[in-house]
Amino acid sequence: MTPDGLSTLDVLLIEDSDEDAVLLKRQLETAGYRVNLERVDTGGALIKALGQKRWDIVFSDFSMPSFDGIQALKIVREHDRDLPFIIVSGTIGEERAAQLMKLGAQDYVIKGNVLRLVPAIERELQEAKLRREHRLAQDHIRHIAYFHPLTQLANRHRLVEDLQELLGLATPVALMIVNLINFHEINGALGYPNGDQLIRDVAGRLQEVELNGGHLYHLHGNEFAVLLRTENRRQVEEIAQDALKALAPHFVCAGLRIHIGARVGIASSRRHDGDPHTLLQHADLASRFAKHEGKTYAWYDAERDPSSPARLALLADLHDALSTDQVFLVFQPKVQCPTGVVTGAEALLRWRHPEHGLIAPDMFVGMAERSGLIDELTHHVLRRVSDQMRSWRRNGLAMPVAINLSAKNLVNRRLMAEILSVQSENENSRIDVEITETALMHDPDQALAALRELRNAGVRIYVDDFGIGFSSLGYLKKLPIHSVKIDKSFVIDLVHSADSDTIVRSTIGLAHNLGLEVIAEGVENHDTWERLASYRCDEGQGNHFAEPLMAEEFARRFGPGASFST
Ligand code: C2E
Ligand code: CA
Ligand code: CA
Repeated sequence: MTPDGLSTLDVLLIEDSDEDAVLLKRQLETAGYRVNLERVDTGGALIKALGQKRWDIVFSDFSMPSFDGIQALKIVREHDRDLPFIIVSGTIGEERAAQLMKLGAQDYVIKGNVLRLVPAIERELQEAKLRREHRLAQDHIRHIAYFHPLTQLANRHRLVEDLQELLGLATPVALMIVNLINFHEINGALGYPNGDQLIRDVAGRLQEVELNGGHLYHLHGNEFAVLLRTENRRQVEEIAQDALKALAPHFVCAGLRIHIGARVGIASSRRHDGDPHTLLQHADLASRFAKHEGKTYAWYDAERDPSSPARLALLADLHDALSTDQVFLVFQPKVQCPTGVVTGAEALLRWRHPEHGLIAPDMFVGMAERSGLIDELTHHVLRRVSDQMRSWRRNGLAMPVAINLSAKNLVNRRLMAEILSVQSENENSRIDVEITETALMHDPDQALAALRELRNAGVRIYVDDFGIGFSSLGYLKKLPIHSVKIDKSFVIDLVHSADSDTIVRSTIGLAHNLGLEVIAEGVENHDTWERLASYRCDEGQGNHFAEPLMAEEFARRFGPGASFST
């Protein structure tokens, strides 16, 4: 309403006759409106007028020399789905009128019929308002359904729908899942509001990455996805590397410099039978392959998929192979820093399959964990380590040997009792255990009870793969552990990556403050070893000293008194 109590009506009139325009304006004014009216009579002028301002209503003549009502209606509807459009014309016939209504005209009024005109305007303005409100609400609901509230990026639903569409058209696509690594730790240490801000910053960095027509999604928490319309390995890997590069520089949060590691899993649409969920699952699995390999990205590989039929057959083979010499142990020395004295060994599993050749433990250990075979596997490792230690001792080689435990092993009473009994059998050589930080987080209460028992029996406890999981050193303080083992992914590039260097140096410092020792795995060269020594690392392990060796070879090289001149 205006100050004089009249409603202002911005009217766009499509009409070739000036006189008719004047007439309509007068009719509207008589009916009580204050009218701003603009007349156009070509498509070009109409488009221009629509772009200039927001109109309340459009009136259109039906037949004009260079233009007609149907063309006009189409232009208006492309511009605005809700703007009231009323045909004001001489008779146009039932058929035409019906056609116009179908195309989205709201009403049809015979020229000069003021009595019909005014109520039509009132009704249409009211309805347009409702239509707009409804559409806004729909858009809002759609937004909530399809966008992540934290980052406003498209979410998982949207990704599934987009995948459905592209796979339905047999478009080649690659799906990348980007997992942030230490995120839980950050939320725990800095609180959720800071964690949320950090996620938004991460999203901002990822949005800067050139995706070549691809699309970025925020699936949940610390998980993002990128959908690319190509399966070309090189192109996809370049984008994966760009995304990783974008996240590499530190972030600043709550005044702290924070390094966020990321891992990318990639699956391509070939061989996925058009199912979005399978593709998602495969990309997710690929990111776990990357983790196991200590890589920043990896492709899905059916051969390594625990649910693929070939893998199920493999699992049955593993069960049968456990008591044969297809499955055996190799030993890698642990070396004191900086002296180079060999202080112990880690037992690592190998499986030489009669058909598939040597299978890496990363592959079958995970499979055994998921299938429930892991306790039996660990039981075999323990028996063999015990036999080996006895035999070495007979030959004058007494040294602690560490075995790797999985999360499930810790809650198996029988297995824990077995470790204690092996420990008591071996008077002057210990058995040690290595447990990943994720395993410790699995069931902290159970883990705590089991670890206490082990520690009381003199077993040393190493936290394996430290740095790539979620736990903080503060949390570890509460556990009865002796040593943290810095993951090889930080150690391997220690001398070439400032970030790895910072992580290694600060981990050593913090662990020492908590009274914990530190061992670095993945020492591949002399420079790394020197750097570790300068940071006062306690022990090292890696190919620089020796790769995992067969027991006889190990005894020959590291028999009594052996050490490295490093
Ligand atoms: P892990 O416990 O972190 O073992 C260290 C891995 O790093 C070993 O791989 C070892 O060969 C490798 N490594 C050692 N030095 C270097 C180096 O200088 N450079 C590089 N690039 N790698 C190095 P491996 O033997 O393939 O074992 C992989 C994983 O399989 C182990 O990681 C462990 O998680 C699992 N695993 C192996 N044996 C057992 C076992 O008996 N029980 C359980 N539960 N897991 C096992
Ligand atoms: Ca280990
Ligand atoms: Ca490790």
